[in-house]
Amino acid sequence: MIALNDLEEAAEDRTWWAEARCNDAAGSLSALFFSEELQDIAAAKRICELCPVMEDCLAGALARREPWGVWGGQLFRNGRILATKRRRGRPPKVARPEDELPVIAVPAALAEVVIRRTA
Ligand code: SF4
Repeated sequence: MIALNDLEEAAEDRTWWAEARCNDAAGSLSALFFSEELQDIAAAKRICELCPVMEDCLAGALARREPWGVWGGQLFRNGRILATKRRRGRPPKVARPEDELPVIAVPAALAEVVIRRTA
């Protein structure tokens, strides 16, 4: 389990960035990770799902209380993790399967911190 002061150290350490799946050295995936569109957010989360540095990325995002974007497989808003997000406009009468965001498992070491941030 990671303690809060360990999270702050994680936010300083960026050595893992070279292994990040979203790091194409050109920033071409940024639009997906900071989009308001559900399909983009879902695509970003799927990229994170297989990322070898997901735990480091999520620990840093939690420590920085990221205001925005997909980090470590989770959608952040104002430092909190959102489990779901609604499409813009009036909600449909019948839920659309394509509006469901993929659920990416939180690394066990960060589970307690994430539970506190989503409560
Ligand atoms: S977990 Fe996602 S946002 Fe974080 S480095 Fe990996 S691909 Fe990028």
